[in-house]
Amino acid sequence: MLAEQEQFLLHLAHVISQQERKVVSKIRERAGTEEMYLIFIREYDRVRGQIIRARYIRAEATLTLPEWLSILAYFQWRCAYCQNKPFQVMHHLIPRPQGGTSVDNCVPACYRCLKLKAPDDTCIQEYLATLKPRSHSCEHTLLHEETS
Ligand SMILES: [Zn+2]
Repeated sequence: MLAEQEQFLLHLAHVISQQERKVVSKIRERAGTEEMYLIFIREYDRVRGQIIRARYIRAEATLTLPEWLSILAYFQWRCAYCQNKPFQVMHHLIPRPQGGTSVDNCVPACYRCLKLKAPDDTCIQEYLATLKPRSHSCEHTLLHEETS
């Protein structure tokens, strides 16, 4: 995936997410080429399907398509564990019922790595460190302020 293509997909995701009605023919038109359309719609359906499943079990369901595309760009559309194989699935780091389908719980992965007992997750830890701390970390901030 080229950087310009990534940028384009991200832009498209923002545009589409602002539209109330998602019309496939419009998405296809905006995607420009059939190749970009297929990549876009595959990830669009993936996020949508995962969000529906998370909502169904009343787990956190906050992952957006722009967020997912950014995660994919971060890992260069490869498995987040081996950084080698093209990714095959959206993997939940903490099982969905507890971790939810969110930006800090979903990474691209390949089947091979998911079969391993303890795949190397160095890159995932690095990725998680780039995310802004979540609101529930407020408590810690308050504690620090009180003690200082
Ligand atoms: Zn892998």
